[in-house]
Amino acid sequence: MKESILKHQSGEPLEICIKGQKIGRSHFTMIAGPCTIENYEDLHTVAVELKKMGIHFFRGGAYKMRTSPYNFQGLGKTGLEYIKKVADETGMISVSEVVSVEDVEMIKEYVDILQVGTRNMSNYRLLLKLGKVKNPVIIKRGFSSTIEEWLLAAEHVIEAGNPNVILCERGIRTYETYTRYTLDISAVPAIKELSNLPIIVDPSHSSGRREMIKSLSWAAVAAGADGLLIETHFSPDNTVCDSKQTIDLEILKDIIKGNNKLLNLWNKN
Ligand code: PEP
Ligand code: MN
Repeated sequence: MKESILKHQSGEPLEICIKGQKIGRSHFTMIAGPCTIENYEDLHTVAVELKKMGIHFFRGGAYKMRTSPYNFQGLGKTGLEYIKKVADETGMISVSEVVSVEDVEMIKEYVDILQVGTRNMSNYRLLLKLGKVKNPVIIKRGFSSTIEEWLLAAEHVIEAGNPNVILCERGIRTYETYTRYTLDISAVPAIKELSNLPIIVDPSHSSGRREMIKSLSWAAVAAGADGLLIETHFSPDNTVCDSKQTIDLEILKDIIKGNNKLLNLWNKN
């Protein structure tokens, strides 16, 4: 790839500071929480448990982009109210997906870090709008997008005025069907070579399989990822969406123990 096509992603690694926490090459960021916000109590319980483990970032979708129109679509504005309340009560940093341009102005008041989902990576109007806000933005890789297209998606946000972009590898579509998508682990060193943006990995949506989350998380950390985004719940089997890939809190604890060993390889804390 010709590096000249990127105007903004060279130089010192970007370090994003939010509510006293840093995201970037020299830190490791764990983001965990349910696929979707189902009610206030469950979200609060998960967040409190994560906080006890030393995790500062929690996730939960209020607007879901579901493949089937017959699946749960999220609590919408009510979900945003819950996520804000939990963030305020716990002091944690929230992550939630924004699915449309019209929602940006509202969501930015409720959520700390705005996520662009895989299906919206090429929604350039949305990316430009996110360039006008101050919240950091996670851009998930489009499941059929090349690394170059993904970096250019980030470029849209940065060029429009928001430098705080985080890239998230979440699996791409291949001919394999055993896993939901195929986790492209080589995207991690590629992004570190081509861009100064933080690169995190989502082993949940890439595999779609709970039993693989630990291995894939460790693979991502070994490859040099700057963080992980993992669907986690205290009772995964009872969640309304993505149960099969959601891990429980005990597995997350094991993952963190292993991460701490692997992170020594990369001088990250
Ligand atoms: C999510 O993280 O909630 C999600 C739907 O992910 P993706 O856009 O990668 O499928
Ligand atoms: Mn999900």
